[in-house]
Amino acid sequence: METAKDALKIGIMGGTFNPVHYGHLRAAEEARERLSLEKVIFIPAGNPPHKSENLAPAEDRYNMTLLAIQDCPYFSVSRIETDRQDKSYTFETLETLKKNPEYTKAELYFITGFDAVLDIINWKSPEAIAALCRIAAVSRPGYTQDKISSLPENIRRTVIPLEMPLLEISGTELRRRIIDGKSIKYLVPPSVEKYIVEKGLYV
Ligand code: ATP
Ligand code: MG
Repeated sequence: METAKDALKIGIMGGTFNPVHYGHLRAAEEARERLSLEKVIFIPAGNPPHKSENLAPAEDRYNMTLLAIQDCPYFSVSRIETDRQDKSYTFETLETLKKNPEYTKAELYFITGFDAVLDIINWKSPEAIAALCRIAAVSRPGYTQDKISSLPENIRRTVIPLEMPLLEISGTELRRRIIDGKSIKYLVPPSVEKYIVEKGLYV
């Protein structure tokens, strides 16, 4: 994707964030630092096409993401998908961002884990996604970089693989721990842990 040399570089961190955890935050920080991104916008999916089980309300997932990024001046959270009643498709979100005068000329970097990047071919309009952004793919336990070579060429050429220290944290495992009455301390920011307890989420 050709863009002006001085184009603003913006990271987009999409996910269900059910709940948001240190794996997400570290992935965004690695991408920000290594790709010299101006900022990273977290976009919690409102109504994800592939529903995860035990999905907390969109408003709670938005609130937890907002709490999680409080102390980072480079991170923000967008309500773009939280406020949309329809299903959230990444290509539509990227198109909407591109229409915003602030980002029309920006170079967008969609940040995903190695698991999600391999799944992109199953998302709606993968070619449109590849045309709208570069894909920054960070390592995740259980997924290796070599699988990226199996992606179709038009998608693969937009992927920038970023190896990072593996963090074995997932929303699925966190929800399981909560149901089992186990601690999630040091896996999510303290403010997120407190919010989950106060709202009685995932029990
Ligand atoms: P779930 O188990 O419910 O799918 P999750 O932990 O995978 O939750 P998502 O909201 O599905 O979280 O992930 C959003 C994005 O963050 C995806 O691109 C995913 O690959 C990435 N990601 C999530 N956890 C990690 C992690 N521990 N390390 C690197 N990337 C991660
Ligand atoms: Mg996931």
